[in-house]
Amino acid sequence: MFDYVIVGAGSAGCVLANRLSADPSVRVCLLEAGPTDDFELIHTPGAFGFFMFSKKYDWSFDAKPDPTVRNGEPIFCPRGKTLGGSSSINGMVYTRGHRADYDDWAALGNPGWGYDDVLPYFRKAETNARGADAYHGGDGPLYVSDSELNYPISKVFIDAAREAGMPMSDDFNGEHYEGFGAYQFTIKDGRRCSAAVAYLHPAMKRPNLDVRTEAEVLRVEFDGRRATGVTFNHDGHIETVKTTREVILSAGAYGSPQLLMLSGVGAPDELGAHGIDVVHALPGVGKNLQEHFDAAVLVRSKNHGGITLSARGAWQMTAEGVKYYGAQLGKLRSSVTEAGGFLKTDPSLARPDVQMHSVPLLFDDSGRDLKLMMDDGYSCHVCCLRPRSRGTVSLASANPSSPPVIDHNYFADPYDLQVLVDGVRLARRILAAPAFDRYRIEEIHPGADKLSDEAIAQACKDRLGIVYHPVGTCKMGPDDRAVVDADLRVHGLESLRVIDASIMPTLVGANTNAPTIMIAEKAADMILAGR
Ligand SMILES: Cc1cc2nc3c(=O)[nH]c(=O)nc-3n(C[C@H](O)[C@H](O)[C@H](O)COP(=O)(O)OP(=O)(O)OC[C@H]3O[C@@H](n4cnc5c(N)ncnc54)[C@H](O)[C@@H]3O)c2cc1C
Repeated sequence: MFDYVIVGAGSAGCVLANRLSADPSVRVCLLEAGPTDDFELIHTPGAFGFFMFSKKYDWSFDAKPDPTVRNGEPIFCPRGKTLGGSSSINGMVYTRGHRADYDDWAALGNPGWGYDDVLPYFRKAETNARGADAYHGGDGPLYVSDSELNYPISKVFIDAAREAGMPMSDDFNGEHYEGFGAYQFTIKDGRRCSAAVAYLHPAMKRPNLDVRTEAEVLRVEFDGRRATGVTFNHDGHIETVKTTREVILSAGAYGSPQLLMLSGVGAPDELGAHGIDVVHALPGVGKNLQEHFDAAVLVRSKNHGGITLSARGAWQMTAEGVKYYGAQLGKLRSSVTEAGGFLKTDPSLARPDVQMHSVPLLFDDSGRDLKLMMDDGYSCHVCCLRPRSRGTVSLASANPSSPPVIDHNYFADPYDLQVLVDGVRLARRILAAPAFDRYRIEEIHPGADKLSDEAIAQACKDRLGIVYHPVGTCKMGPDDRAVVDADLRVHGLESLRVIDASIMPTLVGANTNAPTIMIAEKAADMILAGR
């Protein structure tokens, strides 16, 4: 029997476990399907690519295939499965989004979620290596540091953007969201600062916090409309934990709607099709999926000290391993996407509509196209920041171990594809700048001959990727498609909240780790205040 049972030790779950258990009289149970995070590569920032091949620490979902995208091959959807969740396998880029992204949430009927309301929680979470100011925190658990620009091509990207006349920014999370520059990262002293490292490990010894790993929650238990606990599978043993106050779902944008549906909360016809009894009809569960669709411009180049799988590249990476594990030096201290930014494809726009990530290698299919990586090269990835297409997460079956069906509904709104086409043109302007002259050999994708909108659009579809930012599947709001209210309580039920990336009504124009941590910080405050 616990006061709070939290499902999922990801970005949000770790924050909640820490904040709710800070009062020794409150008993908290945190259940995580994955194993512990005591695996060295999780903590090595440069080992990011390893997790695209791991089934132990990554749920490794595949999206529903679409014949018009990637020639019908499914898009890979990685998700962290360990303490820290996706923050233990992510790219560590620290961005928050545009002020208006949060003002949009408030305008959609969510009081208390405008930018001025959420900024204090971003600050509360953060210790920024540059020190505290009006935008940044100085004593929060999450450490945020400057890019070390360990890959020389990252600096070339920044110089090229300047030469191409792009606006520049030295702090995307401060006054100048718009612009190109070096990212900041959730990295401390060359080690990944996941939500588990920042929030959970410091709290693990508290006697009132019970953390269970390899505990996969199967369903929420109800007494009438009140959530009373959860049933989970631990090593083949089915157990139930009970709660006196609340069950909190923090299983992420795929896991939380899946669990609600498995528990009988969702669209009645969909639940009925799988033989699941309806506890509460809530048709919005699993709807409203949004993701950052991503296009790439790939350039074959002369050696620039980036990552390749050639014999030389393999030797260099071995040398980097020796440097890092010997003296904690070198490129493995860094994420691979050191530079990028937020740009407008049309100067008349009120806020940037694309984000760019520079990558010091030929990166496609989440880094799983190893053949492509045999060559020297670099990539500029560009994503549509506020997609208008809406997808779904639904059940494949009533069996909790079946992966959910992730249907992105790609380009249901043609706006998303047009933004990518315009973004590719913008990326090409940067890649054509003189700073790249000494490295560039040829653009291999889309290819120099792909100049028309139609040709670029087809190329975007052929190698479409995602930036791993699913949100919206348990959206917050007052409308009939909303799943939670502005206090993140599930509509129509008692003692049940969803607190994770799934509650975002609209996708923010940013990477989603910091926004998810902010959501959990704010929610913890609400819970502790008795709301
Ligand atoms: C490869 C990758 C790269 C990314 N790069 C960046 C980046 O550079 N910057 C950035 O800001 N964001 C990035 N993101 C996105 C960011 O990490 C996520 O938006 C954020 O971590 C989501 O937090 P969450 O709490 O909603 O879910 P998660 O962190 O995914 O946590 C959900 C947790 O719930 C657990 N769980 C799920 N189902 C169950 C169940 N039934 N029972 C028990 N436990 C369960 C999962 O194992 C997981 O630990 C990236 C994500 C990925 C996958």
